[in-house]
Amino acid sequence: YHAKQKGNHYLFFNDSMNEQAVKRLQIENLMRFGLKEDHFVVYYQPKMDIRTGKLVGMEALVRFSTPKKGIISPGVFIPIAEETGQIIEIGEVVLDKACKDVKRWVDKGLFNGRVAVNLSAKQFSLPDLTARIDIILQKNQLPSYFLELEITEGTVMDDPQEAISIMRSLSSRGIHLAMDDFGTGYSSLAYLKQFPLNTLKVDKAFIDDMGSERGRNMVDSIVTIAHNLDLHVVAEGVEEEEQLALLKQLDCQTLQGYYYSKPLSSEEFERFLESETEHKPNLQLVN
Ligand code: C2E
Ligand code: MG
Ligand code: MG
Ligand code: MG
Repeated sequence: YHAKQKGNHYLFFNDSMNEQAVKRLQIENLMRFGLKEDHFVVYYQPKMDIRTGKLVGMEALVRFSTPKKGIISPGVFIPIAEETGQIIEIGEVVLDKACKDVKRWVDKGLFNGRVAVNLSAKQFSLPDLTARIDIILQKNQLPSYFLELEITEGTVMDDPQEAISIMRSLSSRGIHLAMDDFGTGYSSLAYLKQFPLNTLKVDKAFIDDMGSERGRNMVDSIVTIAHNLDLHVVAEGVEEEEQLALLKQLDCQTLQGYYYSKPLSSEEFERFLESETEHKPNLQLVN
């Protein structure tokens, strides 16, 4: 054990805690460097309309590509970026890149839907959040109509009343709002109906459980709640044909998952859009 004195407190580390702390610090430094050197890249995962089988939109997912350590998964660096506050800058890089790509695809006539961008709790509580988003949209000359923001239950349940007013200011600009990973956090149904949401994303954990009757009933209940609240439903992490068939029966409209496509690089996604447009010249995307 090593002991460090910090004011009147002694902090004790065992070796594994120390290793953890070193790794964290390494990633924090890599992220600082990566922000300077443009190592954050945006991938896009298509969302499909279950009835028509057509593309309706996509989610922007950040990838951290380091020269020495290769790709670091968001599962590893996002929690650290949340703690250090670097998620604010990373989130804005993602939004900026997503707006730039979507602007190009809209101008080329390849896309007319919404791109969903994840918004972290730290970003959500910035006092000038809406101004920051306005600036990025304006800079890229992209109307807010093309943007959807995904927030989690944890983000809004911290201070639901405040969250409602922030969500209203985003929503009044025409930005759509989605509740991400629904069912994994602690949101109350009483608030769910007060939040100005457009979409509810059913977490992959529930989709994974659809092999059992109880699991299917669970998804059925979530879809029913969403529809009763007039919300659009997206099923996350759909991997199998059987899941798709069940979701269709349950009247879930939209699917996102490996079954349809993995997240694609910007170049790959553009080719995906081109092949969609080739086959359907009168592309009409609505989300
Ligand atoms: P999320 O927002 O719930 O994103 C969905 C995650 O599920 C993505 O993981 C996606 O690649 C994965 N996924 C989608 N379909 C399937 C499937 O069929 N099977 C499996 N096994 N996985 C599937 P990813 O890209 O690793 O991102 C993980 C999480 O990191 C995201 O979960 C989100 O919470 C966070 N994240 C990613 N990009 C950003 C970002 O730009 N900003 C913020 N704040 N968070 C981000
Ligand atoms: Mg998401
Ligand atoms: Mg999600
Ligand atoms: Mg999820």
